[in-house]
Amino acid sequence: MSERKAALVTGAGRGIGRGIAMALANNQWGVVINYRSNEKKAFQTAHLIKDSGGTCIVLKADVSRLSEHRRLIEETVRHFGRLDLLVNNAGIAPRQRRDILETTANSYDKVMTVNLKGPFFLTQLVARKMIDLVEAGTVEAPKIINIGSISAYVSSPNRSEYCISKAGMSMMTMLYADRLAEHGIQVFEIRPGIIDTDMTSAAKEKYDRLIGEGLTSIRRWGTAEDVAGAVVAVVQGYLPFSTGEIINVDGGFHLRRL
Ligand code: NAP
Repeated sequence: MSERKAALVTGAGRGIGRGIAMALANNQWGVVINYRSNEKKAFQTAHLIKDSGGTCIVLKADVSRLSEHRRLIEETVRHFGRLDLLVNNAGIAPRQRRDILETTANSYDKVMTVNLKGPFFLTQLVARKMIDLVEAGTVEAPKIINIGSISAYVSSPNRSEYCISKAGMSMMTMLYADRLAEHGIQVFEIRPGIIDTDMTSAAKEKYDRLIGEGLTSIRRWGTAEDVAGAVVAVVQGYLPFSTGEIINVDGGFHLRRL
């Protein structure tokens, strides 16, 4: 068994995915930095990791294209000899926010394919590979982490397709957690709140104001490092009797308050 565990992180060139990739590398994991189109950012992540003594490779693949999944997994196992963790992080917001009465079928399909269908089938293929690796004694207790969102339960009628995709991902976490438990594979959802990345940059002023007014109990933006910290906490292995759990990383946004 190779010493260094291996993680495949989708959408790891920038934003939350970069934070996760760097935190795993800092904790001695070998990391696959997957990206779709932004090659420069992906190699920047790789340089940051290598400069601090970490190990990684960069793999281009579009998670919404099912035909690209097999190569992603095969390359990971070929390079690291194992696969201990999948982080389904890659995701998109609708290109244009539109009221639910105006949502287009194109935008619906696009968002659902990247955020839900792609991760669903990538997880299916990874799970089969992890089962083989567990049975061969190559890995022990591999894990799958889905990066969900508070949008799984918060209504934003101007980006309904995003909310539906994240609600679906939440059920996907439960389904795979249930099915894979017998193979010793745990599945978790990490549910970020408002995190400072490219995805939220267009609504920065709105969120600055809302956070200032007390939208979250902890009155600040979340960071990629906050989300990455939760990933590292899960992979440490201190939650052996838990699966299908949701870990909120939202500054207390989900709390009902009076
Ligand atoms: P981001 O800054 O916009 O980065 C998105 C990442 O996903 C990029 O690395 C991008 O790759 C990758 N990606 C997009 N489509 C892809 C595809 N088809 N195949 C492979 N990679 C793809 O977003 P973020 O804020 O870091 O979000 C990361 C995850 O957290 C998403 O699932 C998002 O829904 C979730 N989330 C974010 C927030 C937030 O407040 N930011 C809150 C809750 C949940 P390229 O660089 O190559 O384009």
